[in-house]
Amino acid sequence: MLAAEAAFDALCKDRSSDLLEAYEPSVRSSWIDKELRMVRNAQPAVAHFGGLLGTLYAGFDIWLGQLGIRLPWTLKHKADNTTLRRKSEAKKIDYPKPDGVLTFDRLTSVFLSNTNHEEDQPVHLTLKDATVPVDVNLALYDGPEQRYCPAGVYEFVEEPNGKPRLQINAQNCVHCKTCDIKDPTQNINWVTPEGGGGPNYPNM
Ligand code: SF4
Repeated sequence: MLAAEAAFDALCKDRSSDLLEAYEPSVRSSWIDKELRMVRNAQPAVAHFGGLLGTLYAGFDIWLGQLGIRLPWTLKHKADNTTLRRKSEAKKIDYPKPDGVLTFDRLTSVFLSNTNHEEDQPVHLTLKDATVPVDVNLALYDGPEQRYCPAGVYEFVEEPNGKPRLQINAQNCVHCKTCDIKDPTQNINWVTPEGGGGPNYPNM
């Protein structure tokens, strides 16, 4: 609402981009800022101290905030891509097959989202180094991109010579940006696709 008001004001005046600068101060003086400050340490606390201690710490911090007492420090977030465990440290998860009633395979869900990108538009998903997916991601992390992507965009396929290769089905991307955040070496470059492309969710 505040963003819409700032944009509306800018459109009513001379569309100067610096008029949108009113947006940040309006957020900072609103209830949004107050509520976010109260919970600012919650997620970092869980990341730093683990589920049990972190939740207790976060609850205590929020409780103090509700009493009007703000602790004078702010815990830092850990970058998500630095928290991935190597395959040698993780237990393999045996995912149950989708039953087609309550759970569905990823491509069926992508179909329902009516995702589409023009075939001749510039590719919005690129790799900084094409060797990293196999040499680092697959070798050390068992190719996490083939699991965390909700649209099955990343697939490791076998070349005729038997070697694996990462195939990127960018057409199916539902723009969640998980790969941009989670890729362990930040090798995936996600840029905003050409206008109009992406998921449409026609039944929502
Ligand atoms: S943005 Fe989301 S849907 Fe698109 S490729 Fe990355 S993880 Fe997959």
